[in-house]
Amino acid sequence: MKLTNWSYSRYGTWKKCPAILRFDQTSTKPREVHPAAERGTNVHKIVEDYLLAQGDLPDEFVYYRSFLDGLREQGAIPEQQLAIDKNWNQVEWDDPNRWWRGILDASLLLPDFAVIYDWKTGGEYADHREQREIYAAAYHACHPVKTVQVFHVYFDKKQITHGTFFDHEMKDLRGRWEGRIAPMLADDQLVANPGYYCRTCRHSRWNNGPCKF
Ligand code: SF4
Repeated sequence: MKLTNWSYSRYGTWKKCPAILRFDQTSTKPREVHPAAERGTNVHKIVEDYLLAQGDLPDEFVYYRSFLDGLREQGAIPEQQLAIDKNWNQVEWDDPNRWWRGILDASLLLPDFAVIYDWKTGGEYADHREQREIYAAAYHACHPVKTVQVFHVYFDKKQITHGTFFDHEMKDLRGRWEGRIAPMLADDQLVANPGYYCRTCRHSRWNNGPCKF
């Protein structure tokens, strides 16, 4: 079984253990939602509703109120779906020829300048830089502005990290991502890569799954 397209989270799963993606294809087990993931989903929904002026902010978000007010006033788009094909052309979300797709938590398109926001409820990890890269490259493929800034907003830590990507860097960024993803899309074995995370994997034998680990 080969994968034909990817998302940033799918790439992260493949790097950790390709077999998870193989078992995902056949599993009928309902997914259990971890409390941390549930909180993340709730935070995304609260912010989306606020940006759409469809809900208020709970007290725990007071620190971000003026920031989110600014985004709302400037017309930031929440939960924007983006998909591109392997030639970096924008395609429909469900296009069978899509190569990558992702949902931008919020984006702002200005003349010659774009800003993308990704909300995090956990901590900062080194691979978030890679995430900023693919978001910038994919967004630029759909909206070829001169500069794309990508912000990670760590709600609980009250911390912001960002990357700025310029028009002339996009060719290199695209090449880098094509190189990273080629082995994943060529992988027709999706072999198990056991590790400490097996204990919490829904496919593990500990959790009555099909994997031998
Ligand atoms: S149990 Fe471990 S080796 Fe098996 S699919 Fe899950 S993470 Fe991979």
